[in-house]
Amino acid sequence: MGDLEDLRTLVRAFIEERDWVRFHNAKDLSAAIAIEAAELQEVFLWKTREEADAAMRDPEARRRVEAEVADVMIFLLSLADRYGVDLAAAVERKVRENAGKYPADKVRGRAVKYTELKKE
Ligand SMILES: [Mg+2]
Repeated sequence: MGDLEDLRTLVRAFIEERDWVRFHNAKDLSAAIAIEAAELQEVFLWKTREEADAAMRDPEARRRVEAEVADVMIFLLSLADRYGVDLAAAVERKVRENAGKYPADKVRGRAVKYTELKKE
């Protein structure tokens, strides 16, 4: 398993070898990420939470999950590569922003949106 830069290079080479860059625009790459995320959800569709957790211990279901997670990541890397998004920097910035929105002492153990916290 390489780091993000190695993966970005791997995905770029795959795309360029097939001359698929022409199809890669912000609209379609964004849609592809959402579609692959939906395929990930499909693995667990109509299962209870317990059944979904059990599926993660089932080798075949787990392979499907890993394949869809990879598809999401591949299109995410493609979008980032095409438009020069530094994924590591974007994630670091977003986690810092979220830390400001969700102070640990206020949200520990609670699933609450930050807009609701402002009312407290
Ligand atoms: Mg897929």
